[in-house]
Amino acid sequence: MWSFFGCTFCAMLYVTVMGLKAIKRCILLGSILLLSSCGGREKPDVPRSGQAASSETVRQCMAALKTKSVRFSGLPNKSFDNGCRTIDTIKLMDFGTPATNLGAMTCPLANNFTDWARYAVGPAAKMYLKGEVVRIETMGTFNCRNVNGGRSGKLSEHAFANAIDISAFILRDGRRVSILDGWRGSAEEQAFLRRLHQSACKRFGTVLGPDYNSAHANHFHFDMAQSMTNGTSFCR
Ligand SMILES: [Zn+2]
Repeated sequence: MWSFFGCTFCAMLYVTVMGLKAIKRCILLGSILLLSSCGGREKPDVPRSGQAASSETVRQCMAALKTKSVRFSGLPNKSFDNGCRTIDTIKLMDFGTPATNLGAMTCPLANNFTDWARYAVGPAAKMYLKGEVVRIETMGTFNCRNVNGGRSGKLSEHAFANAIDISAFILRDGRRVSILDGWRGSAEEQAFLRRLHQSACKRFGTVLGPDYNSAHANHFHFDMAQSMTNGTSFCR
């Protein structure tokens, strides 16, 4: 189509104008079109529309996940209304503990979440609950909304797939420890959940729980908004 249009356009221009300048211009334009389309050659391998090349940081993050035997798949970049977008996100397939409702996640979020599940959740369950967590219940990752679901205001980190909400833990013996009941539950449940909250504060930029506000009474919110380069996080 382009080839037809390009070559026909030049022929028409040549016939109608016939000036030296026009001929020169046509030859130039024709050469460009010939190179790019008339020859029918494919363009070099460039990222598809909407798929920016992954940055070096993301590439390193994905390599780190593979080293830790985490199975995941890359997701296509998407942009939505209101500025929500998922760029360089992945879907976790297997990292040792099944987790519900996992959608698109940025790689650094997924990396920290899988580390937290392995090195905080597992040992804490053994220590405080004398049990093994076989499933982590989440309330999801990507969600195109503002902070606290407000009508106006700043977009939530969920709008960039850069946050995850954790609601409960299922143990092999059938026990279910939820944030809603366990935060003020038995001494063991309280110790378990507080250890997980503290551990998260060392891994995520922002950690919010039931002590922050009533909107977080039933879940932990973890996101990567704050930089951890100075070793501090927003931990409430
Ligand atoms: Zn959240």
